[in-house]
Amino acid sequence: QTLKALVPPGEIGVKFDDIGALEDVKKALQELVILPMRRPELFSQGNLLRPCKGILLFGPPGTGKTLLAKALATEAGANFISITGSTLTSKWFGDAEKLTKALFSFASKLAPVIIFVDEVDSLLGARGGAFEHEATRRMRNEFMAAWDGLRSKDSQRILILGATNRPFDLDDAVIRRLPRRIYVDLPDAQNRLKILRIFLAQENLEPDFEFDKLARATEGYSGSDLKNLCIAAAYRPVQELLEEEKKGSKTGVAPALRRLNLDDFIQSK
Ligand code: ATP
Repeated sequence: QTLKALVPPGEIGVKFDDIGALEDVKKALQELVILPMRRPELFSQGNLLRPCKGILLFGPPGTGKTLLAKALATEAGANFISITGSTLTSKWFGDAEKLTKALFSFASKLAPVIIFVDEVDSLLGARGGAFEHEATRRMRNEFMAAWDGLRSKDSQRILILGATNRPFDLDDAVIRRLPRRIYVDLPDAQNRLKILRIFLAQENLEPDFEFDKLARATEGYSGSDLKNLCIAAAYRPVQELLEEEKKGSKTGVAPALRRLNLDDFIQSK
């Protein structure tokens, strides 16, 4: 039951097409994960084309690392388990070492499976020195041992995918086990435009809405920032309507929201 809680409900089904930009990242994941999971027979001969057991996604917050991990599971036809630093060490879940063992045996039953370790630095970060909790240290050792112990049959079908904003906090033992590292960057103007088109695909925009102006006006925004901006902008016509209703100008007909314009976004920044 506890382990089932690690499989997030409802969010599975997101695809690469739901992710704007990040074309190079998607291409790398296609070769490293999707193909070996979908066509294991192509990777079972010789030594050169061995599927890798660990991949690290690193980059600034909100750039879509978690979303990529979920979409990757869909695209690879794999199950998805999500853990973070606190999942295995939570006092509610009991003995972290036992839970770690159970996690890996659960994973081999669910294979093909992607074990997504969000904030991998907090679960498996640099050793905490004298003040590190003994239970944390044992859990970490157990995790590494179970990871190393994935039999070669399982290693094709169980992937550990770590994500972090702080790659420099990872110690060598973890870095070595995550041999493929993929940088997930902030989007440039062209890529912000692609992301905005996805978020605004179903919205009631003014005709000739100037996507390119909005993309240029959002320098430094992550995908997550862009999403929050779009939500705030979409709320403005709702708020205006509510204010009009408050003034008593109800017409009796079902209220129609006005179209969104560029100014709604600029004002919401
Ligand atoms: P953190 O490092 O803070 O955990 P993250 O890199 O894992 O962040 P996500 O949690 O995947 O980022 O992104 C947050 C939300 O932002 C996503 O659920 C998604 O709605 C949106 N998002 C971010 N990047 C993109 C993108 N390239 N295309 C579409 N949506 C995106």
